[in-house]
Amino acid sequence: GDSYDEECDYLFKAVMIGDSAVGKSNLLSRFARDEFRLDSKPTIGVEFAYRNIKVGDKLIKAQIWDTAGQERFRAITSSYYRGALGALLVYDITRRQTFENTKKWLRELREFGNSCMAIVLVGNKSDLSHSREVEEEEGKNLAETEGLYFMETSAMENLNVEDAFLQMINKIHECTI
Ligand code: GDP
Ligand code: MG
Repeated sequence: GDSYDEECDYLFKAVMIGDSAVGKSNLLSRFARDEFRLDSKPTIGVEFAYRNIKVGDKLIKAQIWDTAGQERFRAITSSYYRGALGALLVYDITRRQTFENTKKWLRELREFGNSCMAIVLVGNKSDLSHSREVEEEEGKNLAETEGLYFMETSAMENLNVEDAFLQMINKIHECTI
């Protein structure tokens, strides 16, 4: 509500990024509303979601933007990244190509995004380990090379989802204050 907004100490914008169908929208809906959808709509229809988080004695309002399926056509514009202080860069551990493509997304993030951006590399769908195509170690190594944080998640089973977002939000906080 409005009174809650006024009490918030900081407002941060962050973005969800990565190939189509890696689970961006479900990660966000899990984090913001604890919801998951099995049926794949290219988008859940929200442009962004909010969540208020307490970090120390400060109340932080995280405004997290999701794509409305534009990533399918690589048609994300610079305005999507504008002012973003954090990003969840997501790939699907069962589709190698989505991992390879994180390098392209990273270039775009660095071109259009804030210079001090907290980026968490997220390997999603860890519940599907029987059809895994990307080892956890590979994600870790890429993150280390590129100076990112790293986490494997399952939006479906609600594994590490909260941690991934909170890691980003905490890092944004450290970077800003
Ligand atoms: P987006 O295009 O990146 O926003 O991806 P979506 O969130 O729409 O998810 C694409 C598909 O993957 C949907 O069918 C989801 O149900 C499914 N999905 C998303 N996250 C997970 C997950 O952690 N595990 C499994 N098994 N499926 C997932
Ligand atoms: Mg989506």
